[in-house]
Amino acid sequence: MPTAVFFSKDGKADSLPATVGMTIMQVLRGNGIPANAVLCSVGGRIVAEKATLGPDDHLEIRQVRHYDLDVTRRPATRVLPSANPPVYSKAVLFDDSGSLEVQSEDMDESQFAGYVEQIFASSIVDHDLLAIGRQAVVGLSGGRDSVAFLKLLERCRDRIGTFPLTAVTVTGLPDWEEPATFGAAKAVAESLGVDHVLVGEEAIRETFALRRSFHEVMQDVVGGDSRQMVMVITHHVMRRMIEIEGARRGVGTVVLGLNADDLMASIVTWLTSGFVMGSIPKRTIGDLEYVFPLFRVTKKELTLYLEIVAPELNRQGTPGRFTTGPQERSMAYALTDHLYDLWPGIDYYVFEAYRQFAERMGKAEHDVCRTCGASYLPQPGVHNPKALCDVCHFFAMREYAVVRV
Ligand SMILES: [Zn+2]
Repeated sequence: MPTAVFFSKDGKADSLPATVGMTIMQVLRGNGIPANAVLCSVGGRIVAEKATLGPDDHLEIRQVRHYDLDVTRRPATRVLPSANPPVYSKAVLFDDSGSLEVQSEDMDESQFAGYVEQIFASSIVDHDLLAIGRQAVVGLSGGRDSVAFLKLLERCRDRIGTFPLTAVTVTGLPDWEEPATFGAAKAVAESLGVDHVLVGEEAIRETFALRRSFHEVMQDVVGGDSRQMVMVITHHVMRRMIEIEGARRGVGTVVLGLNADDLMASIVTWLTSGFVMGSIPKRTIGDLEYVFPLFRVTKKELTLYLEIVAPELNRQGTPGRFTTGPQERSMAYALTDHLYDLWPGIDYYVFEAYRQFAERMGKAEHDVCRTCGASYLPQPGVHNPKALCDVCHFFAMREYAVVRV
């Protein structure tokens, strides 16, 4: 059997489990040690972490910088147990003048549903995201986020009241129709007295001045070398069609179903690309205010919540060709999910920091697209001409659309 010892800079020696055929990287990962933090040697010789351990190998792992890796490997933890076996444990790292402790609360099904509803209700009330006298429009795709939003409104009605809402379903791509959940989503909308509007393919074609149907254009895009544009385009088209429907009704608030990890992943993307984004949990773009009532709830929490309160709404098909994003999107989500493990509740810290940063940065200059009419933030490295959003610019370059003057 090989042996492995980790020597931390504060003088501790830790025996780590290792078996024949494991790579050093696997030993490190299994023990929460980043390769960048250590130098590894086998039999006194330094080796790269991809090396595989043989039966007589003795691996020594030495930390290269003096800091305490136990803050992530073995954090100080306080657990509030639940009487029943927990389905979820909500953990948040608390920083008391530099002293860290992870406090976690075990929850059974009913405690968990109560927790999500309480956090949702207080997000809306504390940040004034929705108000009884303020019309708002929400995209209803039949996907989990919009459905969970309506379900939460329904179940929190006694606590926060009902809000004047119009739900907009944009059709035009096969992936946008979720037959498994759509009927049920409609039923929830009806029970809330929410107006429901369908926007069809013709309206998309008209808005974006397309020469062909939206579906045909997207089939072309998905099969070509600009495949990575698919998600940018579908998100933009969906957002714009919802805005137009809202504007038609004089609505000033647009509800977006982005949840905590969506927003964390956007911040990761911002940090690694320089793409500018607006504030959280509400931002003003052009004449409209965008609100994110799910900004304190993660995708996992939303999925589990639906599984508990409305499993019939939790059926989702596998993503189709028009809902598969580029790899850099996967990278942003993977990094975000790992961050939650390493720093439980990191979103609380990051959103607050970002809010302060965005305030100091001041108001970024928006531009208005002359084709689709969207307000957008010109982004560094995206060379669209003035007053043409990146999607309409792409459509024009590929001759999918006419450019309006
Ligand atoms: Zn545009």
